[in-house]
Amino acid sequence: MPVKKSMIIRLGDTCVLCKQQMEDGIHLCEVHVCEECERKLVDVNVDDQTYPLYVEKLRQLSLERFL
Ligand SMILES: [Zn+2]
Repeated sequence: MPVKKSMIIRLGDTCVLCKQQMEDGIHLCEVHVCEECERKLVDVNVDDQTYPLYVEKLRQLSLERFL
């Protein structure tokens, strides 16, 4: 039995990182990330200078949602 993705997005949601409307992606604490950005997040090297930018962006967005 295949493992189903537990994080589901709604069609028409916009990716918080690239601002593109997306048809597939993940849903992190009310923050939507498209498949492409998800892949970047997963693949990006911790030493890569874009990594802290992604993490910070996600962290800020997560905090905003909870406040
Ligand atoms: Zn994206």
